[in-house]
Amino acid sequence: MWTRETILEILETICDPEVPVLSILDLGIVRDIQIISPQHLAITITPTYSGCPAMNTIAMSIRMEFMSRGVEQVDIHEILSPAWTTDWMSEHGKEKLRAYGIAPPQYQHKDVPAFGNEIVPCPICQSTHTEALSQFGSTSCKALYRCLDCLEPFDYFKCH
Ligand SMILES: [Zn+2]
Repeated sequence: MWTRETILEILETICDPEVPVLSILDLGIVRDIQIISPQHLAITITPTYSGCPAMNTIAMSIRMEFMSRGVEQVDIHEILSPAWTTDWMSEHGKEKLRAYGIAPPQYQHKDVPAFGNEIVPCPICQSTHTEALSQFGSTSCKALYRCLDCLEPFDYFKCH
């Protein structure tokens, strides 16, 4: 029998393909879980970025995980409003990003300074003496920064 907890345990193992260190629960995109019957679940998610191809991969991963455990039907509903923001990312998720060498979002969605004016601490040495190199890093959700103390370049998960 499925419970909300056992479903959450499985969702915790499904990662964002663009940032594999984060689970979809860390991202905060799972908005609702419904147990219609033991063979029929419905999961509601909000896409991180509109038209993000990663969403199809995530929906497919959710379906496959539950179907491999005997669920016959997994409905994935997408809700677009309210739109996802990096405010929904869990503290645990931000901690995982930092441990992975990616600076987590530093601001609330509403008060993000203009690009280049954000103070982004280096995830390696914690220095706030850093500079923005490029608005786009390895994926569009990240910017490329460099630490002026330890000289390491690093990705910053931009506020959104
Ligand atoms: Zn540093």
